[in-house]
Amino acid sequence: MAAGDAYLTRRLRPFTTTIFATMSELAAATGSVNLGQGFPDTDGPDELREVAVAAIREGRNQYPPSAGIPELRRAVAAHQRAWYGLELDPDTEVLVTVGATEAIAATLLALCEPGDEVVMFEPSYDSYAACAAMAGAVPRLVRLHPPDWSFDADELAAAAAGPRARLLLLNSPHNPTGKVFSPDELGQVAALCAAHDLLAVTDEVYEHLVFDGSHVPLATLPGMRDRTVTISSGGKTFSFTGWKVGWVCAAPALVSAVRAAKQFLTYTSPAPFQLAIAHGLGYAPPVLRGFAAELAAKRDLLCDGLAALGYDVFRPAATYFATTDIAAVAPGTGARDFCLALPERCGVVAIPSSVFYDPADPAAGATLVRWAFCKRDPVLHDALARLASWEP
Ligand code: PMP
Ligand code: GLN
Repeated sequence: MAAGDAYLTRRLRPFTTTIFATMSELAAATGSVNLGQGFPDTDGPDELREVAVAAIREGRNQYPPSAGIPELRRAVAAHQRAWYGLELDPDTEVLVTVGATEAIAATLLALCEPGDEVVMFEPSYDSYAACAAMAGAVPRLVRLHPPDWSFDADELAAAAAGPRARLLLLNSPHNPTGKVFSPDELGQVAALCAAHDLLAVTDEVYEHLVFDGSHVPLATLPGMRDRTVTISSGGKTFSFTGWKVGWVCAAPALVSAVRAAKQFLTYTSPAPFQLAIAHGLGYAPPVLRGFAAELAAKRDLLCDGLAALGYDVFRPAATYFATTDIAAVAPGTGARDFCLALPERCGVVAIPSSVFYDPADPAAGATLVRWAFCKRDPVLHDALARLASWEP
């Protein structure tokens, strides 16, 4: 136990400082190019900034309703209808949260009893295991295998059939791998949820950052609309990760349950940013597709550059992130040691993907490294030049 953990409950001891905070601090301390934490280095549309500024000037500065301001709830419902054909009542089936992070926490706290199992794919975004732990629930992990991040259907079926399995948490498009689950895979997930009466929780924060294929919400599959809690947020779609406006869409009884937890976590989310994101959700599809197209070019720049340097690259279909296997460029080195040494050696920060795997299995993801490409082109070129200067 580290000295700073003396007061931390046992259930939270595995979750002291997130890898994103650690690596961003290291980037700042060493003047490194930060390809670690997933945030863009340019803001989203000026127009949305102006909506937030105007809202502050116009006095939208007191507590908004706990469920979220009506403008945003209506905009989320209209977005789900326009993009996916999902009909939602903005008053009873949409809940605004402080980013997807709070939505995930409130959902697991609201829906899991201590000892319940949460079926999820591994590698998985770091907050899932931490939030499951806060709820007293237990992750039941199903491995995704490179290069295409496929899973074993029997392994998933066995996890879903567990006597304590309560819900299945699906992240598509997926962090850290950039995988977009295929219609066939979504069908398997849906069939298992129905067969074992599991709730589904989906994290769709990268829904608009898809380069290959298209995003299909699990809630659109037959039988899934009323057993799925769909989570998303505006941070990634609009390049304002610091605004922390997220939302939950689900049937009224599920939204009521999540709202009960949410109201005692934060009660409500900042009003001016809710208005700005409501405005952005009304953008025509070509505008949002334009954001993804810009990012796809960055994906190619970074992936081609890393491949030219000898990295084994798993080119993502979506998200901010590319994964590489470092075994060929740094034989015998683990991802964590590699990433901790990289800033000093050549001034670049990346994330060891091993942190997205069960710590009880140290071999899992041991040579995988995640690189964020949501950066200006000169920054990506600079990072590649720095990496080229590194000699093992
Ligand atoms: N889920 C995933 C998969 C993420 O990558 C992130 C980080 N953006 C979040 C949730 C958290 O989203 P937010 O910033 O809206 O809380
Ligand atoms: N989602 C971001 C990432 O995966 C990080 C968000 C955070 O710092 N918690 O890099």
